[in-house]
Amino acid sequence: MKSKKLFERAINCIPGGVNSPVRAFASVEADPVFIDSAYGSKIKDVEENEYIDYVGSWGPMILGHGYPSVVDALLRQMVKGISYGAPTELEVELAQMVCERVPSVELVRMVNSGTEATMSAIRVARGYTKRDKIVKFEGCYHGHSDGLLVKAGSGALTYGVPTSPGVPEDYAKNTLTAQFNDLESVKELFVQNEGEIACVILEPVPGNMGVIEPTKEFLSGLRHLTQSYGSLLVFDEVMSGFRLSPAGFQGLSDVMPDLTTFGKVIGGGLPVGAYGGKQEIMSLVSPAGPVYQAGTLSGNPLAMVAGIETLKATAAPDFYSKLGQTSSIIAQGMSDILKEAGVAHVLNQLGSMFTIFFTERSQVTNFADATSSDTKRFGAYFRNMLQNGVYLPASQFEACFVSGAHSEKDVDATLEACRKATKTL
Ligand code: PMP
Repeated sequence: MKSKKLFERAINCIPGGVNSPVRAFASVEADPVFIDSAYGSKIKDVEENEYIDYVGSWGPMILGHGYPSVVDALLRQMVKGISYGAPTELEVELAQMVCERVPSVELVRMVNSGTEATMSAIRVARGYTKRDKIVKFEGCYHGHSDGLLVKAGSGALTYGVPTSPGVPEDYAKNTLTAQFNDLESVKELFVQNEGEIACVILEPVPGNMGVIEPTKEFLSGLRHLTQSYGSLLVFDEVMSGFRLSPAGFQGLSDVMPDLTTFGKVIGGGLPVGAYGGKQEIMSLVSPAGPVYQAGTLSGNPLAMVAGIETLKATAAPDFYSKLGQTSSIIAQGMSDILKEAGVAHVLNQLGSMFTIFFTERSQVTNFADATSSDTKRFGAYFRNMLQNGVYLPASQFEACFVSGAHSEKDVDATLEACRKATKTL
């Protein structure tokens, strides 16, 4: 077992054997699969087992792996230079593409990860409003910077409690947490902390507690509340950006944020994040303004070409509608199989993101609903799907991602695997 041996080696030199926790497969009680290569919709492990991939590197690979125009551009750029630490035309091109597509973004700054993007956006929001507190939602993930690793305990709506040791209490107290899709819980925070809240940050379509849809009233209510209290609204579109439409979630909504963060698809699989918004706010960022933020590898030319080519390919006519159709066939097909077998579940899907929650509840609209899921059952489903050649995210609280490379044959094979896996539940 090559993967097992590699994991044993890894444990001795990397904390927990992995460079990002979910990869260890701990919550699904399985040994992690070590990957050798990936192409199109498929990913291959070190033992040459091939799987249909619904992780897509956790979102970036919207075109599938090894997309020819992305790979060609990378190869061409590689011989011209890997990193300069100086301005390039490529950065201008990607920034313009983002500004043209995303209506709320007039200026955009490239960084190297989603974590950096949200951390920096919050710094700008604080600099702009001259306030310290922020509001986030229980179950939303915005990367691992200190102030964002805060999740409310039951009823702890006023002051945040760090969920990770190492986050100073004194720092976490500036992060207030509310319940997703519950405007009242946000209103209360604004009333209790009047004049102190710099911004409300949210994943407009949370994917990090599994996929959850926002209600229209919730989003428009947030817009109204933030405006009337002089706070900024920040959409974390690291996951939904350029995935749900050419303009991300914003392309599907009437509600416009003040600031937006990006990651994943914007880098086409290379380490990129970005944050942007109205000129008036983004002009505060150094060197245009006093809010400091910098990066040795920011705007890296390889990362920029992967992003540019990925966004170009997603601009093909019908790209998003086809992707949505394929995703619906897969997600609805899985749900039908589970339903027929009498397995209680809720399917949440928006475009090419979906989650099947193994819960008895009739809907999943927030963290409490999501965490009512039977994670043991999810683990069994995950392991069986893997055995039958389907690579799902190794946690109940993640989104499955479909790519443009998923074919009808993949759909059939996925549903066949689902039939087999369902029998064992
Ligand atoms: N925001 C959201 C919505 C995310 O999904 C993630 C990563 N899953 C992040 C921020 C952090 O991005 P990164 O892992 O690139 O730091």
